[in-house]
Amino acid sequence: MNTKEKKASLLVVEDEESLREALKLNLELEGYEVTTADNGPSVIKMVKNEHFDLIILDIMLPDMDGITVCETIRVQHNDVPIMFLSARNSGADRVEGLKKGGDDYLTKPFNLEELLLRVDKLIAKDKKIKTPQAVADTYEFDGCNVDFAAHECRDIKGHSQELSKKEAALLKLLIEHEGQVVSREHILQVVWGYNVYPTTRTIDNFILNFRKYFEKDSRNPRHFHSVRGIGYKFTA
Ligand code: CA
Repeated sequence: MNTKEKKASLLVVEDEESLREALKLNLELEGYEVTTADNGPSVIKMVKNEHFDLIILDIMLPDMDGITVCETIRVQHNDVPIMFLSARNSGADRVEGLKKGGDDYLTKPFNLEELLLRVDKLIAKDKKIKTPQAVADTYEFDGCNVDFAAHECRDIKGHSQELSKKEAALLKLLIEHEGQVVSREHILQVVWGYNVYPTTRTIDNFILNFRKYFEKDSRNPRHFHSVRGIGYKFTA
């Protein structure tokens, strides 16, 4: 297993207690931080408030099956990697699971080594996708300038402004993903670094400030866009 700067955080959803505990124990031995759940509705609640790097999701659950849980998570624009576990082994189930937004599928009984390898791979793959373009210490757009290292910018009127550490971090994150929507979840995780988030209103206030600094008309932003229910996007 490769060394992790930060422990990846996993959510294991399994109603069968012995299997749930065995998974938790073995994943913790691999260095992961593991949270467990035994039913679908509580998972849906948890992913709204907490960041996970991967969800291991049993399909046969009481109340709400795993495929419905996955579907619900995706409808909320959450793209956390999901690996299904299923006792069923029909090709149709596998296809349905993957169609509904699952990233991988493992049939019970499974080989523990294989599960651990797949978990590691899924997390590495997701990290690679999310690794942004490198941006230099200073960045120019539309006559403005941002100096990330000095925590300063030159605004649309040519005035120089100080940036707080978090403002600089958020600007850097958005600029690194120029043209792409960055989810609220990702922003809170990278800029605030909490596993449990502060209110998302916090980000809105930062975006309002950026519009004041960098937009000619802050009501019709050309650079700092809110994408309703998803996140934010910067365009140069
Ligand atoms: Ca089950």
